[in-house]
Amino acid sequence: MGFKVFISADMEGISGVVHSEHTSRSGKEHDYARKLMTSEVNAAIEGALNAGASEIIVNDSHGTMRNILIDQLNPKAKLLTGSPKLLSMMQGIDSTFNAVFFIGYHAKSGTRIGVLDHTISGRVISDIVINGVSVGEVGINAAIAGYFNVPVVLVTGDNSVINEARRLLGDIESVVVKRAVGRYAALCLHPNIVHEKIREAAQRALERLSDFKPFRFNSPVKVEVTFANSGMAEMAELIPGVQRVDGKKVSFMHKDYLIAFKILRAMIYLASTVL
Ligand SMILES: [Zn+2]
Repeated sequence: MGFKVFISADMEGISGVVHSEHTSRSGKEHDYARKLMTSEVNAAIEGALNAGASEIIVNDSHGTMRNILIDQLNPKAKLLTGSPKLLSMMQGIDSTFNAVFFIGYHAKSGTRIGVLDHTISGRVISDIVINGVSVGEVGINAAIAGYFNVPVVLVTGDNSVINEARRLLGDIESVVVKRAVGRYAALCLHPNIVHEKIREAAQRALERLSDFKPFRFNSPVKVEVTFANSGMAEMAELIPGVQRVDGKKVSFMHKDYLIAFKILRAMIYLASTVL
């Protein structure tokens, strides 16, 4: 029996991607960025196959979640495409998987130098703190994998997201595909070099699978969310169990992390209706 691998693929942490012209649906360079993203995901798939993976699910995790070019994807993997999905960037994960890869990930909102830093929604969220720790998509999604007892073993993106991931998850495999120079600028490695590094890191990660532990937040989880404006916090306050802390901030607790995540998603949807 080979490994079962779950890949969550975002776009902001792909080499060459530095602007909304790449990441947004209407951007002139979006189709090119989709191609770059698909190739980096393929490198991770190849590395996993080299290590003996027998089943690979790729969850397209960026924006509309319809980015990866299916005909250019390695045919050994299956693609989960489209949105919304209840578990969003982690839809499809369950306890049958052996390992999770985060490909093309980015730093959390408020990172001083991180390419296209944000947390879930750049327009809505200023900060998310779970059990006292400010976390981005790496932490939030790693804990969903951890909920199902699956470790995150590989993260790729700019140097700032790799620092964030290593602080939280420890000695995981990682590939720095670009060095952040600012929010909209990076020193990027050539795709050929990036692919080789990702292929090797993916293989290495599965070869030392026993080194990794699932990441979890202690129960009950306390979630504190700071929104971009007070109108958004007001919408979040509509949800039962959610307390208003101050103008832009709400908080809630739940013993079950997966339910806490769904409450978080619901409040982001509600808040996004406010300008
Ligand atoms: Zn994204």
